[in-house]
Amino acid sequence: MRRGHFRIIIILTRQVGTPHFCWHTTGGHTHRVGAVAVRSVRRARAGAMSAALAMSRGLLVASGVHGRADTAGSGTLSVPKPFRSIPPTAPTCDPPTVAEVNALAEFITSSQRLLVITGAGVSTESNVPDYRSPKGAYSTGFKPMSHQDFMRSSANQRRYWARSFAGWRRFAEDTSPNDAHHAIATLQHENFIKKLITQNVDRLHHAAGSQDVLELHGTTHEVVCLSCKHVSDRKQFQKTLARLNPELAEAADHTDTEHRTLKFRPDGDVELAGEVVVNFKVPPCPVCARGPLKPRVVFFGDSVPTETHHAATHASNTCDAVLIIGTSVSTFSAFRLVRDAARRNVPVAILTAGETRADDLASLTVKKLAGETLRLVLETVRRKEMYGY
Ligand SMILES: [Zn+2]
Repeated sequence: MRRGHFRIIIILTRQVGTPHFCWHTTGGHTHRVGAVAVRSVRRARAGAMSAALAMSRGLLVASGVHGRADTAGSGTLSVPKPFRSIPPTAPTCDPPTVAEVNALAEFITSSQRLLVITGAGVSTESNVPDYRSPKGAYSTGFKPMSHQDFMRSSANQRRYWARSFAGWRRFAEDTSPNDAHHAIATLQHENFIKKLITQNVDRLHHAAGSQDVLELHGTTHEVVCLSCKHVSDRKQFQKTLARLNPELAEAADHTDTEHRTLKFRPDGDVELAGEVVVNFKVPPCPVCARGPLKPRVVFFGDSVPTETHHAATHASNTCDAVLIIGTSVSTFSAFRLVRDAARRNVPVAILTAGETRADDLASLTVKKLAGETLRLVLETVRRKEMYGY
């Protein structure tokens, strides 16, 4: 194949941004037509430039299988290392190999009742740091507030809410789903995933269009009163906090770029100076006027709500395969789901950039980035469905 035969076509699509190519043969010459499926004009331009540059330098790596030799086929392109765009929050690792992508696609399509368990690793490519990877929050000495610490004093609650208030904009409003979230949502819609359980509190699975997401550790997008159990919307609560704390609200508005350099945490906190925290005002519960109000998140040292626990157990007991994505499943609430399924001889696969607590239980382990890998896996799953290989 000479380089001159490559052409790039950009397809704007609402579907997952999967680098994709197809080729056809005309007049004895084979033409490959590169198509980069993207979700926005900005990404289309970036994708086209990367692919064109890669092709011109002979760096494009293409993998795929011919449909019929004289007509058409399709496959996936993997953009080589120099053209990868990986956010600084994501762990450093090589791109997935074709064999790894195929093995994951085979694992997914072989299952009828696939349980997917995700964690912070699916959000690192959305610029949300994780806890345990070398670039994670723990590596900088961060210790999340425990349930016991939160309950111990109103000063601790003020500290929590001041940091969380200041970090919310970047955490909830400036982050968007990445290829991992989009691929998972698509696999769910196309019935390849029976149940999705996430340990993440960021609601990025929902933002990508996933429905029926079991949030094992709750979400920062809701606020619960610990006295009367009233649940309210976090966005409204942010507005109330902004009204009660105009100085910090204004500071957060005007120094947003500065906040980006602050230590940002997986649950949305930032570090703040002591005096800001001491003077921070937290309102009482709007229903019972008592409280305290807490994000509807399972803090460290807290236990998973009974209803959530039962739903997760049911998912583990009824699945026929478990795929762990972007998590070391270090927390027992998630690990037990994998362990119990494995005891029933259910196959376990892992896609995450690092060691996990369940490595010994897995028949397939791919230590790569979730988004970068899953967009290729999705493409392969579709190819298998369409062409049968
Ligand atoms: Zn209340």
